[in-house]
Amino acid sequence: MTPDELKGRIAEDGVEFLYAMFVEMHGKPCAKLVPVSAIDDLLEVGAGFAGFAAGPMSQTPADPDILAIPDPASYTRLPWQPNVAALQCDATVEGELWPYAPRVILRRAMERAAEQNLVLKAGVEVEYSLLHRNEDGSLRPADERDTSTLPCYDARGLTTALDHLTTVSRHMDAMGWGNYANDHEDANGQFEQNFQYADALTTSDRLILLRLMLHTLARRQGLYATVMPKPFADKTGNGLHTHLSLWTADSDEPLFHDDEDARGLGLSEMAYRFIAGILDHAQGLTAIVCPTVNSFKRIGVGPPDSGATWAPAYVAYGGNNRTQMIRVPEGGRIEVRAPDGSANPYLAFTALLSAGLDGVARQADPGDPNGDNLFSLGLDEIAARGISALPPTLLHACDDLVADDVLRAGFGTGRDGDYVDYFASVKRTEFRTITDRVTEAELDAYLTLM
Ligand SMILES: [Mg+2]
Repeated sequence: MTPDELKGRIAEDGVEFLYAMFVEMHGKPCAKLVPVSAIDDLLEVGAGFAGFAAGPMSQTPADPDILAIPDPASYTRLPWQPNVAALQCDATVEGELWPYAPRVILRRAMERAAEQNLVLKAGVEVEYSLLHRNEDGSLRPADERDTSTLPCYDARGLTTALDHLTTVSRHMDAMGWGNYANDHEDANGQFEQNFQYADALTTSDRLILLRLMLHTLARRQGLYATVMPKPFADKTGNGLHTHLSLWTADSDEPLFHDDEDARGLGLSEMAYRFIAGILDHAQGLTAIVCPTVNSFKRIGVGPPDSGATWAPAYVAYGGNNRTQMIRVPEGGRIEVRAPDGSANPYLAFTALLSAGLDGVARQADPGDPNGDNLFSLGLDEIAARGISALPPTLLHACDDLVADDVLRAGFGTGRDGDYVDYFASVKRTEFRTITDRVTEAELDAYLTLM
């Protein structure tokens, strides 16, 4: 979209204000509110931010401004505040793209793939919890009657939340995303709302806006919407199941489909190589797709009240089998089930694309699909089959990330060194800050034990 076309759209839509947006490492949506009268300046100079104040962007208070340059193709009028439109921006410093900005990192990874005539397309299953905060500070599902141990797909829970869910659905369609399903999920107060897949950059931009919309709509109802991976220890966590496929850049031909697949999953040889790449880099990848201390309470083997975590514990792939880290629900695409709601989509897709393309380049073979129920297979059996577990904590995952040269190259480098080292240093501090606290669980276990 040219600047003049963008101005035409803005006038046509009756938009008065623009959010000039970018995200930092955690995926926090940062914005400046810019009146449309200042659009020429916004497009030419960008919106100025003190990067250090935004969050982890490898900036200090002594650094010059981040100037966020809008990507006109990302223009989206926000139906929940229709006089405002969002423009996702690429962060620059002193005229250069800033290599610690997640959107810049994914853009560069996508450009490298395009040099091989490849585009990563991605769809995400957005799970979130709609919660009410009690006067004592505790949290409960938005609907206080939503207490069943098997709430998944319950039409009654769906009906109670109908106004909220249909509003989100209409807004998704108004933005041209193609909402196609909405359900009550496996935890009390948990919902999932789906929209059509697109190229990974577009899907990332949309996910950031969706989270902002969910937050805004919940707040208007006096509620909290959270994508936090595990808000309740005894309930299923918030995943971000991610569906991936490669396409040709020049002719938009799908590359993951093959009806003649000898393994019977409807996948091409390239898709299997991509799977092998993701499995080979699964340990380091986990730091990026499960990037919080809380993430590691979602993945693992211990089931919540509903009977299953629906999250992977092991590095394995299979057919239409939800106990695997990678599921192949049908031919033509793969579903990576490790990512959770706290994943920054730009960074998650960079990691998955880098790992997958490494498998393609090495012509790696993932072996035959695993048909077991990995939620019930004993640990001895798992070990005997040579299946490895995902890292147990964020700290372990960070160690795996910095040891992974493919991911290191995929995230690139900048003024302060490689992004993976910066990411790991921020996350190691986060781990210490949270785990240094003495918890109720520790008091329960140790106060009078010895
Ligand atoms: Mg789900």
